[in-house]
Amino acid sequence: MPVAIRLRREHVDAMIAHALEDAPQECCGVLATKDGVVDSVNRARNVEASPYRFKIDPLEYAKLERGLDEAGATPAGFYHSHTGSDPIPSPTDIRMMATFFGPPFVHFVIGVKDREKPEVRCWYIQDGDKAEQQFEIIE
Ligand SMILES: [Zn+2]
Repeated sequence: MPVAIRLRREHVDAMIAHALEDAPQECCGVLATKDGVVDSVNRARNVEASPYRFKIDPLEYAKLERGLDEAGATPAGFYHSHTGSDPIPSPTDIRMMATFFGPPFVHFVIGVKDREKPEVRCWYIQDGDKAEQQFEIIE
């Protein structure tokens, strides 16, 4: 597996913390890069407020994207949590994200079914399917 994205430990920890806080509802957010490396993890509101799916409000996303742009950062991926299932993109995730957010956008799924053992996996979503990607933690 090639490395799809590089990020720091604090970014992984931020996604896990968000997932644990919002459980049993799914959380979601946006990863932004500067110079090809993740620079920030930005929480977004799950407008579905559901344990089974997530949706970022398009207006909120547009606003977030503008703010990132002004800061010289670029949206590079998304994260959301699975609170009762494995951290594998669901058919709904694939349907929702494939159209506009195929590669190089990455999709982290944070599995917190077992709160003691959060699982972090990274995917490309493309052509109605998913492909697991490697991520690298840089110090
Ligand atoms: Zn999902």
